[in-house]
Amino acid sequence: MDKHSGDADVVVIGGGIAGLGAAIRLKDRGLEPLVLEADSRVGGRMTTDRANGFVIDRGVTLFGNGFRSMRALVKRLDLSSLTCPGSFSVGIQDAAGCRGYRGGRFEDLLLDRGISWRARSAGLRFGMDLFRNFRALSHGNSFLSGALDGENCQEYFQGIGGEELFDRIFWPGLNGPMGGAAEKSSRVILMQVIWNLLVRGQWNLTDGVDRIPEAAAAQLPVVTGARVLRVERSGAGVEAQAEVEGRRQNFRSRAAIFAVPGHLVPGLCPSLPVEMCELLSRTQYSKIANAAVALSNPPKTPYAGYAFTPDVVPGAEIEMEHLRRPTAARAEPGWRAFSCGIRPGIAGWKRMTTR
Ligand SMILES: Cc1cc2nc3c(=O)[nH]c(=O)nc-3n(C[C@H](O)[C@H](O)[C@H](O)COP(=O)(O)OP(=O)(O)OC[C@H]3O[C@@H](n4cnc5c(N)ncnc54)[C@H](O)[C@@H]3O)c2cc1C
Repeated sequence: MDKHSGDADVVVIGGGIAGLGAAIRLKDRGLEPLVLEADSRVGGRMTTDRANGFVIDRGVTLFGNGFRSMRALVKRLDLSSLTCPGSFSVGIQDAAGCRGYRGGRFEDLLLDRGISWRARSAGLRFGMDLFRNFRALSHGNSFLSGALDGENCQEYFQGIGGEELFDRIFWPGLNGPMGGAAEKSSRVILMQVIWNLLVRGQWNLTDGVDRIPEAAAAQLPVVTGARVLRVERSGAGVEAQAEVEGRRQNFRSRAAIFAVPGHLVPGLCPSLPVEMCELLSRTQYSKIANAAVALSNPPKTPYAGYAFTPDVVPGAEIEMEHLRRPTAARAEPGWRAFSCGIRPGIAGWKRMTTR
């Protein structure tokens, strides 16, 4: 390949884990990437705050054992010694009580006496569908999942007699992580999340998940505080116009990778084909407020996470996770993180925080 004549071979827009992972791969293949990140630090939704000896992951907290590319990236960045097994169990609280499910223990669902026989047999059917299609569900194999992509979750669970299973377990437990519209989302998304994260178990980093983006950025040319405003074709390549610390700056390259939330891309590059812009504009994310509370005496709870159905917490989806203890010497205090899916009328939030 010819040497580029611009600022880089490929400009990567967005310094979250997707952009940094792509840039590392480009670098390993002999290309020169340049990452432009709007924020003052890299990582995007994979960042960690450190306060008084506490390690507080702000977004990502667990990786699935099925996340092969993430494992490979961690190895590539020499961070394998920091990995540790994660253990996640969730309690789902509805008006009938609290039922618990452990990560990697699908039988908890099948043996659950808190749900009807019909729901349990739908769980068995769902489990068989997972195992039958595990290749298409494995991380990085989405190109194989086309045949599964014809139904949304609601249609799929109706088809297998699993309405109760969905309404009482999967919706409260996974609606937030799935973007806030689980019933209308493709069943593939739900199946992939459950297969890679819950059936296969999880892992974590002992020192905060931000070690991954930070280690990647240390090996790459990255400009932080660089908000890309517009990307245009220019000759045989592209030109990205950015605001870097209040000043306009142009970056020329042979290609660009957009590693920002999909719905932002049409605004950055209106000259993309219309059908692509329409598809990207439809990307939706859940609106989540995440709060971490340090407790001198963390409660002894059987589950790492709790999810609540709307009849228990009306108007809001709330998940509480009792996460990692501090890695610093201050051994005793723990902390609890609350994720609150924001919906119109957030009545439940106040109720939870005053408990
Ligand atoms: C509360 C929460 C908990 C989560 N928990 C988990 C979990 O436990 N496990 C898991 O696997 N996933 C989890 N996720 C999802 C995970 O965080 C994301 O899937 C992942 O981090 C997305 O990475 P990304 O690089 O695609 O996007 P982002 O992290 O959003 O990165 C995009 C980057 O682009 C930058 N940017 C945006 N616009 C511009 C612009 N115009 N110019 C330049 N830069 C720009 C942003 O500042 C950002 O840094 C969680 C998410 C949240 C919010």
